[in-house]
Amino acid sequence: PVRVRFAPSPTGPLHIGGVRTALFNYLFAKKNQGVFYVRIEDTDQSRFVPGAEAYIFEALKWLGIEPDETVGVNEQFGPYRQSDRKDLYQQYALDLVHKGFAYYAFDTSEELDALRKNAETNGNTFIYNHSVRETLNTSLNMTNEELEARLFNNDPYVIRFKMPIEEKLTLNDMIRGEVTFDTGLLDDKVLYKSDGMPTYHLANIVDDHLQQTSHVIRGEEWLPSLPLHYLLYRSFGWDAPEFAHLPLILKPVGNGKLSKRDGDKLGFPVFPLDWETASGEKSMGYREQGFFPEAVVNFLALLGWNDGTDKELFSMDELIKLFDLSRVNKSGAKFDPEKNKWFNHQYLIEKENADLLPYLKTVLNEKQIIVDDHKIEKIIGLIKDRANLTTDLFHLSDFFFVTPKEYEEKAAKNWKEDTSDFMQQIISVIENVKVFEAKEIETAVKNWIQENELGMGKIMQPLRIAMVGAMKGPDLFEIIALLGKDEAVQRLHNAIN
Ligand code: GLU
Repeated sequence: PVRVRFAPSPTGPLHIGGVRTALFNYLFAKKNQGVFYVRIEDTDQSRFVPGAEAYIFEALKWLGIEPDETVGVNEQFGPYRQSDRKDLYQQYALDLVHKGFAYYAFDTSEELDALRKNAETNGNTFIYNHSVRETLNTSLNMTNEELEARLFNNDPYVIRFKMPIEEKLTLNDMIRGEVTFDTGLLDDKVLYKSDGMPTYHLANIVDDHLQQTSHVIRGEEWLPSLPLHYLLYRSFGWDAPEFAHLPLILKPVGNGKLSKRDGDKLGFPVFPLDWETASGEKSMGYREQGFFPEAVVNFLALLGWNDGTDKELFSMDELIKLFDLSRVNKSGAKFDPEKNKWFNHQYLIEKENADLLPYLKTVLNEKQIIVDDHKIEKIIGLIKDRANLTTDLFHLSDFFFVTPKEYEEKAAKNWKEDTSDFMQQIISVIENVKVFEAKEIETAVKNWIQENELGMGKIMQPLRIAMVGAMKGPDLFEIIALLGKDEAVQRLHNAIN
């Protein structure tokens, strides 16, 4: 059976790349009637950030990427937080030592620093590998008695993996095909520390085994760890899961991986939700910027995947039906903030006005503007064609709620010497409209223009300026109808003065 996991480390807010990994795991699980679970990888206590775990769960929930099993949900393979599984890992580290696949290393951090410095002065970088492990303070370089004595003495140690000196490993990746690694180039990674904590590598493999992970789907940045992970499975005598490494998400301009800084620089979010660090540093989130979760899911799904056609709009159900790891690209996927807005626009225009009401109403409430819901819905109907984000709704409709006090300079130029006179007459035209609806107002105003043999623009432009304060907005007569007779007349008076 398919069992896949999303295994974030709670070291900060969940990056949009992490969300894409979660989504692909979720889609793969659902497509194959399998299980999607979330495991919190928090063994590196130095990088622990309070609130990050809650953020991860909130973000996944908002996006509808809900785990079948995780902390507090269906815990049959629990615990799902590695710090709660802490006591489990030591036996596995020791097992590898006993089998000869790992060894104790007692080097102090001062000693390691000295080795690094020394290498640096010789123009090298120090690598803890087969060329040094027999000469340093390791159990490979001491008698059993010496080792016993050191352990008895509680000397701090780490357990390191004994990387094969020379082995060519050809491993299969479901996206990349065969990938070959030369173990001679790899270092002896730390698996376990004397503080009783496993490192990521050990905990990840032990848990994927115990929690019966069938496929590991994760970002490309983990590909270099694949040989170590494969060798750990082999050393334990366990079957390894299948692996799939997802392509990088690239910056919108230039080369390289999308980073938090790209977002700050170009003004788009790289996180699903707003986040504030303990020191008050803020990062914006898609939710607060006015995106719908369906749109975010949609554009993330297309970062490295497509269904083989030109189709771009997919609901979660469609994605589940169509998703296929064999259609995931090897090459990086460019992140396109403008296109992301386009996706959101597609979802926004499909929403009922009533479904958009709460977004605009929240802003109005904050500004203590009280308008009847029915009218707000009508206004939304007039402007939503031009909105990309829910936060655009107010900017596109503010003039309905707030009488213009200033007139955009460019618009004011359309106000000529005779304009005030004409507008004075338009006031009576408007006052005389019986059924105050767009069609009726339009007929009355246009008839008057014709009767007086005036140009359309000569009247329509200043009329719009009076109503909106600028040369923008939807159909002018719809605007006037929604403003109502009194407000429309008042705005004309304001403009004349
Ligand atoms: N904890 C790792 C991370 O933060 C998980 C990597 C993996 O999926 O193996 O990305």
